[in-house]
Amino acid sequence: MPRLEWHDGKIYKYPCPADRKMGLFFKGFMYGISIFEGIRAYWNPELENLFVFRIRDHFERMINNAIGIMKFDVPYTADELTEATLKLLRKEKYRTNVYIRPLIFLNDMGVGVDGNSVSVIIVAVPFEKYNLKNKDSLSVCLTTWRRADNSMLPPRGKIGGLYAQSHLAKKEARLAGYDDAIFLNANGTISEGSAANIMWVKNGKLYTPDTDSNILEGITRKTIFELATNELGLETLEGEWSSGWIYSADELFFCGTGAEIEPISSINKTHAVGNGSVGPITLKIQKVYFDIVYGRDRSHSEWLTPVYPVRNLR
Ligand code: PMP
Repeated sequence: MPRLEWHDGKIYKYPCPADRKMGLFFKGFMYGISIFEGIRAYWNPELENLFVFRIRDHFERMINNAIGIMKFDVPYTADELTEATLKLLRKEKYRTNVYIRPLIFLNDMGVGVDGNSVSVIIVAVPFEKYNLKNKDSLSVCLTTWRRADNSMLPPRGKIGGLYAQSHLAKKEARLAGYDDAIFLNANGTISEGSAANIMWVKNGKLYTPDTDSNILEGITRKTIFELATNELGLETLEGEWSSGWIYSADELFFCGTGAEIEPISSINKTHAVGNGSVGPITLKIQKVYFDIVYGRDRSHSEWLTPVYPVRNLR
């Protein structure tokens, strides 16, 4: 549980008085009419600082989707929400890895699906691994649910209600003994995981579904493509890919803020990925990524926002 909550411009003890007053009869909760984000901050013990990863990119995506897709009247800028988050983290005095959850939602009460009034909240909790607890790779299935299309409920929006679909996929996977699920689109092409993008390696090239494949345009996805091209010299390809591509992949992994880089070792228990252990390119990508997000490698310091005063940065 968070200790504090930033709510419409002020920091309160969690849960704040406005939450109690509102109760549960509001549209953001009842219908999932909301846009949310997931942002990570990493604690670097040597530098004694907490680094928030690509915070401005997250808030820009959130506000663009809140206005562009949901037609919300958002009363804050990306810079204001960035500042609000840093203030909240400083007040929480976190010295550990943290997951930050901003949410813009309709706070209108009552029955009926339209509304005008939005609230913005930000909370942050200590957080380590997502799926990779006590293991270094995942067993996944292709879910029987097909990904919602961008013309229906756009996955690129990170809309609250869309995650009921992620729940269906993940629940199906867990009930059948898998760690997580991969969505195909209605036309059979590969989309993404229940809460992460997907990438694979084939003959030394890195592949991922494109934005027409009903995906969230992940910030981790973009980061990894950039690092793969510039630091690892890999050829990177985006497109619409049939499911055969992942069955024949040499390496396969989920990527996302929460998931980070989660290697996948089998699909539907019948297909081993590569030789079943974490592949060499995935290992390299993990190394480059974690060195950057923890601030050990300062070559991309533009992606890191320090929460505390900077003392001894190299
Ligand atoms: N797809 C979905 C459905 C997600 O929920 C997430 C996690 N936010 C991602 C992809 C990865 O996006 P990002 O790298 O921006 O966290």
